[in-house]
Amino acid sequence: MADKKTTKPAEKHSLSLDDLASLTKRRGFIYQGSDIYGGLAGTWDYGPYGVALKNNLKQAWWKFFVEQRDNMYGIDAAILMNARVWEASGHTGAGFADPLVEDKVTRKRYRVDHFLEDNGVDPSGMTLEQMTAKIKELKLKSPEGNELGEARQFNLMFETRAGVVEDSASKVYLRPETAQGIFVNFKNVMDSLHPRLPFGLAQIGKAFRNEITPKDFVFRTREFEQMEIEYFIKPDGWEREFDGWVAAIRNFMQQVGIDLNDIHELDVPAEERAHYSKRTIDFEYKFPFGTKELIGLAYRTDFDLSNHTKNSGAELTYQDPHSGEKFIPHVIEPSFGVDRLMLAVLSAAYTIEEVNGDKRTVLKLKPELAPIKLAVSPLLRNKPELVEKAQEVYRSLKQKYGAVMYDDNGNIGKRYRRQDEIGTPLCIVIDFDTLKDKAVTIRNRDTLEQVGVKIDELPEQIDPELAKF
Ligand code: ATP
Repeated sequence: MADKKTTKPAEKHSLSLDDLASLTKRRGFIYQGSDIYGGLAGTWDYGPYGVALKNNLKQAWWKFFVEQRDNMYGIDAAILMNARVWEASGHTGAGFADPLVEDKVTRKRYRVDHFLEDNGVDPSGMTLEQMTAKIKELKLKSPEGNELGEARQFNLMFETRAGVVEDSASKVYLRPETAQGIFVNFKNVMDSLHPRLPFGLAQIGKAFRNEITPKDFVFRTREFEQMEIEYFIKPDGWEREFDGWVAAIRNFMQQVGIDLNDIHELDVPAEERAHYSKRTIDFEYKFPFGTKELIGLAYRTDFDLSNHTKNSGAELTYQDPHSGEKFIPHVIEPSFGVDRLMLAVLSAAYTIEEVNGDKRTVLKLKPELAPIKLAVSPLLRNKPELVEKAQEVYRSLKQKYGAVMYDDNGNIGKRYRRQDEIGTPLCIVIDFDTLKDKAVTIRNRDTLEQVGVKIDELPEQIDPELAKF
């Protein structure tokens, strides 16, 4: 079989975002949103393998952060929420606005802090006036070469209307984060489950932000998915809890195949933190386009629950069962973007290496995440006796492993290439020997090792094989 022997060690390829975008499109992971109508900026659609990888990633997260911990509960709140939620959280005000600058001719808008960065200016700590002054001082023009207007704030929330009457009461927002859906359910969960502190509420769901300049593939989009936890604690000892979350996030990243050497932990300085945060760490990943935020971890104090108490009138407190003391719990928030995590996992997995003098592209995904775990092939598709055996093996494995593919397209070398590109850990081939000795060949995606295994022993052999990755 084509790549039975290889001696060249794997080399890490210096990846471009275009390489990744083209592989993921070609192989059915990620497509431009509304593609046949010319696309819609800031939206992406996940194809068959993309949705499988994304679901596996979300499941891995849920298992790690919810199921494997003692004190975690899940919720799934509505995307449309009462507009007062966003007044209380501060999202309708300046707190959730990005600074933009407009091209005076084309009317195109640019995020002014990103624009300054691209022009070699560090915008941290600058006011809107200072940013405008800088643009004037350096005589900066828009990317189209036109004059730019004054820098101003632009709110990122998408507005829509609920119901048939168009008045101010019908205005609703698509949620810009999943976190508030958790805070507004704090009382419901307390009343129904009576959890003791510390405990966490977790949610995975869509969020929407009218980003001024969506860019860098699925890194900055207008519709995306978040996985957020609000971990409620007593204020004393928050530092220890925070450190515990730092360690848990690091462990999770390793579990999904992210090398911690590719992570930069930015301890955000006080002047750049949100005003309610006493400590924030941005876990930044070395993406192909630069080192950028992947995950945020913030100690948000009692800011959110206090504001919702004031604005809703509901009592969002916790009563200590020993002392009887009532107080508003504080909160630590680990916040993950599913799409960014997927981009990081794909970037980490993307490898180009040489096999017997040929280059091969392979996604070295953890088997837990791979869209297809096993591909089963007859060596030749036009030999009924091989096809019959291969179908039999395929059916029994599919029952046990689910994500199993029957692949008889093209020759065996092409099948391996295709399975490598979608990250399938093991390929199983039925050949003429199988008919005699009842043994199939299992080929390992990463080592390219091929081992003969009796069909009867397949289930016992596959699990240790998958564990080798
Ligand atoms: P950035 O500074 O990059 O805009 P942020 O600090 O506004 O991000 P948070 O509000 O902390 O982001 O959101 C939590 C997480 O949600 C981020 O770490 C990221 O993974 C994800 N996220 C935020 N905005 C987007 C977006 N526009 N597209 C994709 N993912 C996003």
